[in-house]
Amino acid sequence: MTSADIRSAFLEYFREHGHEVVKSSPLVPGNDPTLLFTNAGMVQFKDTFTGQETRAYNRATTSQRCVRAGGKHNDLENVGYTARHHTFFEMLGNFSFGDYFKRDAIKFAWEFLTVRMGLPAEKLWITVHHEDQEAEDIWLKEMGVSAERFSRLGDKDNFWMMGDTGPCGPCSEIFYDHGEDVPGGPPGSDGEDLDRYIEIWNLVFMQFEQKPDGSRTPLPNPSIDTGMGLERIAAVMQGVHSNYQIDLFQALLKSARDVTGTDVQESHSLQVLADHIRSCSFMIVDGVLPSNEGRGYVLRRIIRRAVRHGNKLGAQGTFFHKMVAELVHQMGEAYPELVAKQAEVTRILKSEEEQFIRTLDAGMKVLDDAIAALDSATLPGDVIFRLYDTHGFPVDLTGDIARERELALDMDGFEVCMQRQREQSRAKGGFGTDVVLDVDGDTEFLGYSMLDAKAEVLGVSVDQA
Ligand code: ATP
Ligand code: MG
Ligand code: MG
Ligand code: MG
Repeated sequence: MTSADIRSAFLEYFREHGHEVVKSSPLVPGNDPTLLFTNAGMVQFKDTFTGQETRAYNRATTSQRCVRAGGKHNDLENVGYTARHHTFFEMLGNFSFGDYFKRDAIKFAWEFLTVRMGLPAEKLWITVHHEDQEAEDIWLKEMGVSAERFSRLGDKDNFWMMGDTGPCGPCSEIFYDHGEDVPGGPPGSDGEDLDRYIEIWNLVFMQFEQKPDGSRTPLPNPSIDTGMGLERIAAVMQGVHSNYQIDLFQALLKSARDVTGTDVQESHSLQVLADHIRSCSFMIVDGVLPSNEGRGYVLRRIIRRAVRHGNKLGAQGTFFHKMVAELVHQMGEAYPELVAKQAEVTRILKSEEEQFIRTLDAGMKVLDDAIAALDSATLPGDVIFRLYDTHGFPVDLTGDIARERELALDMDGFEVCMQRQREQSRAKGGFGTDVVLDVDGDTEFLGYSMLDAKAEVLGVSVDQA
């Protein structure tokens, strides 16, 4: 089964069970300024769960495009390090708005996996929230799941929240055992973060709304929100152990090899490119432009990481935008908006690449020289600052390189440099204030210096060293 076949089979199964097939909403949530990107299928239905909005149907199913590259659910640092996390992925979901609850949600999921997809029950492991006796009884007594493959876990694993506020509730998760030849342990054990037992589907029993003041109130009607990663179920159905081995990613990996001209067949950097082209392209499709703050800075940071990985593979000149054609080939049928904006996406990526490659080589030289001169395993703050301020290296990009070389970042030293620069520019009465915005609870640097921003406008690169 191709990924496209699985997407259709899922939507069709739930359509047959009375669900309205609803289109994916954009990555920029229309109804929620607290959320950076749509990170789950339920986001477009948030107000339906809380009762603020009513719809013409009380059951829905979607294949929702999602980005997890910031905020409560952030998988950017996992990309290429696990077989299962992407910045962009599609979440298959079924939803009940005060209609069916736990029993039917569990029955539908179990029937879809074991009957429609034909998966053996012995390969599936189940978790529920430790206080949820009702869900346990449904799984063990009604579905006949073996207690050996069942566990109760705490809030960290089995209480789902989209963010700091919004609808939430206990959940039950379904894992697939990829077999003995893959390292890892069952859910709740020490090896759970490895890739043997992979979480494929989360069934959330929506019962509460988390309020900004920290209180939790019951929803008007208990509801259901589920999410299954399309790429993960595709790996299961295609008999492979990594998402990067599914049809879609094989095509994108080939494209990454072609556009960078590398001889390398498989690598971390190739996986990063195959991942990042999807998040970057779809963010642009949904109206995000590279910039120095907020969503635009997330996009800029991901593009710059991609450009650096291409450079590491030996790409000459701009290359990343050339992957858009293959992405359209793979995903255009499911997402006509991608086809409609192909030229625009290509153009924006290309111009962002052109801008960054002007300073990338010089920045890499600064970094390599600094590393060669190190007498500890920590990259000094002034180097991080110089890369950021002069060469347009977002701090997380430097962090990405440091991780590959097993180095830590001296963030305190970086802060000192930032502070000094702020004071100097204030003394000069200049414009050099830096943009520090709070996007998701953590204070992140969302901008590099205004000097860089100004240089960009002028189309020149700045070297103040
Ligand atoms: P994990 O524990 O593997 O990080 P999660 O518990 O954070 O997953 P949920 O928030 O429960 O994920 O999302 C529902 C489903 O979406 C998951 O069961 C998984 O199949 C899929 N999914 C979640 N995050 C990603 C990701 N970064 N890339 C691909 N698929 C994902
Ligand atoms: Mg996660
Ligand atoms: Mg999980
Ligand atoms: Mg989960």
